[in-house]
Amino acid sequence: MMYHKLLFDATFWAFLFTIDQDLAEASRAEQCPSCGGHLHCANYPRKPRGPRDLPDEYRFRLSFCCARDGCRKRVTPPSVRFLGRKVYLGAVVILVSAMRQGPTPRRVRELTELFDVDRRTISRWRDFWNEQFPTTRFWKVARARLVPVFEIVDFPRSLLAAFIHAGDDRDGWGKLLRFLSPITTTKGLEIKVSDDRGQPAEDARRGF
Ligand SMILES: [Zn+2]
Repeated sequence: MMYHKLLFDATFWAFLFTIDQDLAEASRAEQCPSCGGHLHCANYPRKPRGPRDLPDEYRFRLSFCCARDGCRKRVTPPSVRFLGRKVYLGAVVILVSAMRQGPTPRRVRELTELFDVDRRTISRWRDFWNEQFPTTRFWKVARARLVPVFEIVDFPRSLLAAFIHAGDDRDGWGKLLRFLSPITTTKGLEIKVSDDRGQPAEDARRGF
């Protein structure tokens, strides 16, 4: 399965931006979660790494700020483009991690060179998918929607296989990234940590 082809297609990145616009519009319509005030644009500047020739819209992540004085709460909608504060785009993190699990080491080398990813970064991503992702609040809830549709063994390759089918790659990528979009906000990555007596300890928030 050729999951990578689209990532070299500028229209794919433009397509993902339109999904982010929809997600942002939905957040804005809900207004401020603290006071119900209107939300104003307060985008974050970003310098994502990954493909060359990204559309200009990739220089910022869509975000809002409550317009009411004394509140000014920040609201950052989920994204199909940016994974938290990671400098690499979500699709690149997923693709390179998944290719590492596959039988094509040559392709991995090509991709890491193209996207300028070093080994240490890739091994951090591997730890994220193996150790952190399965323990996030997001996955604990979301897995019910997928299991037992397919057996989840190796992330993120199994997710690619579950969402992306030949002939509708763009749609599949869109659905997968939308499915994962809650983990692009701080709350989605919360991990419930237990102490050694099995009692829940404090909540941890981890980036990766
Ligand atoms: Zn507010």
